[in-house]
Amino acid sequence: MAHTVALANQKGGVGKTTTALNLGAGLALQQKRVLVVDSDPQGNASTGLGFQRQSRNRSLYGVLVEGKAADSAILSFEGQPGLDLLPATVDLAAAELELVDKAQREQRLSQALQPLQDRYDYILIDCPPALGLLTLNALVAAQKVLVPLQTEFYALEGLSHLLRTVERVRKTANPQLEVEGIVLTMADPRTRLTQQVEQDVRAHLGGRVYQTLIPRNVRISEAPSHGLPILDYDPQSLGALAYRALSQEFLHRNGVPHGQQ
Ligand code: ADP
Ligand code: MG
Repeated sequence: MAHTVALANQKGGVGKTTTALNLGAGLALQQKRVLVVDSDPQGNASTGLGFQRQSRNRSLYGVLVEGKAADSAILSFEGQPGLDLLPATVDLAAAELELVDKAQREQRLSQALQPLQDRYDYILIDCPPALGLLTLNALVAAQKVLVPLQTEFYALEGLSHLLRTVERVRKTANPQLEVEGIVLTMADPRTRLTQQVEQDVRAHLGGRVYQTLIPRNVRISEAPSHGLPILDYDPQSLGALAYRALSQEFLHRNGVPHGQQ
């Protein structure tokens, strides 16, 4: 069984895609078999791994809306063995509407990922910045939710809405769902603001907050235009070190025990 984790936060620009790609790359570096599911019509996770639109003639849209096998759309990231992608294209935006009158509209991703359970140790779903049907599909398919929070004054704003949505999905479609962790991103540890926000978030959310802080690092923002995770683009950068530490901490919290892979 793969561990399936949804990276969710209805705010845009908080580090969902960056965290999905770099946690994925970090886990693959640890010899784990990882699938990143790009569930955002913007397709940032897909371009972030160097897959331009023309190479994605099959995508999550066909899987969710037309019932195509997920298997047939999967691409392998050349830069690193063990890291695969289920890509998105802009037509995925239409899926939000087209799924509305389909049977089991919130279960479609979960069903599509069933045949892949033995092929991967971890499936990371990169959600769009909204709590619509695509994110609901991710929450139904996942066992865990990982929430990237940007280290800013309003970090906690909107979080209660997300947590209520998770709670609703847990009570209805997916009883095993839990919030696995909160990751503070774009932190500037030398500033008072970051220290205050970190203190505040830890006071509210306690042990669910990762010890690892992801710093604001310009190399992280450059990496996607080269189609590489920061771990490959600049392995010695502060951003890469942070994402390696995050992957270690993640494995520590969610390790697949030996013999069960
Ligand atoms: P989301 O998926 O939540 O919308 P992204 O991961 O795409 O957020 O991040 C938003 C923007 O910020 C992107 O341009 C990304 O490259 C940049 N970014 C993300 N994390 C960092 C960081 N730690 N330091 C600097 N830039 C970052
Ligand atoms: Mg994104």
